[in-house]
Amino acid sequence: MEFLPFTRPSIDEETIAAVGEVLRSGWITSGPKVKALEAALSEHFGGRPVRSINSATGGMEIGLKLMGVGEGDEVITTALSWVASANVILHVGATPVFVDVDPLTRNMDLDQLEAAITPRTKAIIPVDLAGLPVDRTRLYQIAGKHGLRVLEDAAQSMGAHSGGRKIGTFGDLVSISFHANKNITTSEGGCLVLNTEEEARLFERYRLQGVTRFPDGTLDCDVLGFKMNLTDVAAQIGLGQLPHLERFNARRAELAKRYFERIDRTLGLGLPLADFENSNWHMFQPLLPLPSMRMTRGEFIQAMHGHGIGVGVHYPAIHLLTLYRRMGYKEGDFPNAEKVGRETVTLPLFPAMRDEDVDRVCAALEAVLRPVLQ
Ligand SMILES: *Cc1c(COP(=O)(O)O)cnc(C)c1O
Repeated sequence: MEFLPFTRPSIDEETIAAVGEVLRSGWITSGPKVKALEAALSEHFGGRPVRSINSATGGMEIGLKLMGVGEGDEVITTALSWVASANVILHVGATPVFVDVDPLTRNMDLDQLEAAITPRTKAIIPVDLAGLPVDRTRLYQIAGKHGLRVLEDAAQSMGAHSGGRKIGTFGDLVSISFHANKNITTSEGGCLVLNTEEEARLFERYRLQGVTRFPDGTLDCDVLGFKMNLTDVAAQIGLGQLPHLERFNARRAELAKRYFERIDRTLGLGLPLADFENSNWHMFQPLLPLPSMRMTRGEFIQAMHGHGIGVGVHYPAIHLLTLYRRMGYKEGDFPNAEKVGRETVTLPLFPAMRDEDVDRVCAALEAVLRPVLQ
């Protein structure tokens, strides 16, 4: 029986051939393919300035620099995300302030956001967990009222929508990841959608040592930049992926629908919000009924592996990780994020999956869970 991973990128032969061409061309680092990808992304995001980066994490760190966030500033983010969402705040010397999640959306609870704002708050980093966007209308109302910048961690929400608008075509800074597991990939990489060409030029300098080159061959360095440029090899993968985004996301939605149809409700799994308007279905994540199961999550994952099914965990609550506990955060601070972080499992969902694969996962859920339910 073939092993079904929880995700797998779909790279077609045309893309593989085009990457081969880049490797043969003699220009394999940042060059014409990076420029072409940025132009294609800018078109995708309604003509806004877009710059590529070798990871979304790097793009967010530069985004915070562009906003002037540093020592003494507070940045608000969700307690339930990939740890990068909070780590970038620490990297620029600022203080992460967490907000608990809404149990329905599993995203930052906007009712609790305002209470977390202090005179030191500079920015908000909302996260669209599993590709379900935070309500942008309400988010920007709150940010606007308090004069705060927004760095959207839209790492997972490429092609998703909020209020009928495509993520990245509006708003402040928007960070997208092209990591191998995301809805489209460059293997590693990402991009930042910016507000002005001037901001984009500063982003370019931060991306590569802070350097500006002049036509006469001289150069200057006016900010302390990083080394975070995307390669043409990676950019060519992205150029092969972008035209398939809508088809990929449509297939993900079909598979998610099938999960909702086929998962036996009597197993007691906590299903995600069935949103087929806004989400890009980056992941399908039920919550395990742990209190009524004679099995740990680790044992569940092992048992599913025994049935040839890959299961992931995305993610534990950030404030309970050692680095953040050292800052004084503890169990009980954000109960909703903690509960989801404890119980969440990521089931297989990727565009190349067949309908029968969903049925296979559902059969394995039945075989693994039914005997241990009490
Ligand atoms: C993947 C991801 C990131 C980081 O993206 P990289 O390209 O791997 O740096 C950040 N935040 C969230 C929510 C993610 O899922």
